[in-house]
Amino acid sequence: MKQITIAIDGFSSTGKSTVAKQLAKHLGYIYVDSGAMYRAVTWFAMQHHFIEKDHFHIQDLISNLHKITISFKFNPELGFAEVYLNGKNIEQQIRTLEVSSFVSQIAEISEVRELLVKQQQKMGECKGIVMDGRDIGTVVFPNAELKLFMTASAETRAKRRYNELIERGDNVSFKEVLHNVQSRDYIDSHREDSPLTKANDAIEIDNSNMSLEQQFNKIRQLVETKLQENH
Ligand code: C5P
Repeated sequence: MKQITIAIDGFSSTGKSTVAKQLAKHLGYIYVDSGAMYRAVTWFAMQHHFIEKDHFHIQDLISNLHKITISFKFNPELGFAEVYLNGKNIEQQIRTLEVSSFVSQIAEISEVRELLVKQQQKMGECKGIVMDGRDIGTVVFPNAELKLFMTASAETRAKRRYNELIERGDNVSFKEVLHNVQSRDYIDSHREDSPLTKANDAIEIDNSNMSLEQQFNKIRQLVETKLQENH
């Protein structure tokens, strides 16, 4: 069967990666978490002190971007590909609230976007890919056969993210997680370069009141229809 490209965009913590992983597994497609790539650049910037509490050394980061190699390696135990920065697995490090608090500012930098979008497009050259992010259906794969745009209320999303962080053992409050979700939404949808917006041909899924199973069944039907159309 002909393979297609599936682009999943939406606000923070809308469950994009959960459904993307489910779909990739179901279809035998590659799954790419594009947010992990922006987080990896943020982690690199933190390690090199290009990010400090009240100052970003943007030019220094830009001139060091050539030192960044991001790759993904499938972990069969977890069932998805983990992110590596210059050969080091940084999957755990990039999921902290500290990285989340800087990542949207890093993602505003056009040089960073240009570098990552090129890599993402290369990964999708042969189709058979599910990628989630903020600009996948609008910029990375504007010709994707299926585009989904996920939404849910900010409170629902913050609750999900808070539970994830607490489960990992991170010491965070619900208030700061909610603040982070709202402030990333704002920056991501108001930036000049590739702002988060729903592509005209994307299908919106509000999962505030949907179970994971209901959501997967709904999306699986959409996929089946697209696969038939592109047969
Ligand atoms: O998906 P995740 O929440 O991990 O993404 C982290 C951040 O990376 C987002 O808040 C956004 O600022 C940025 N991002 C982006 N474009 C993408 C994916 C993520 O700007 N395609």
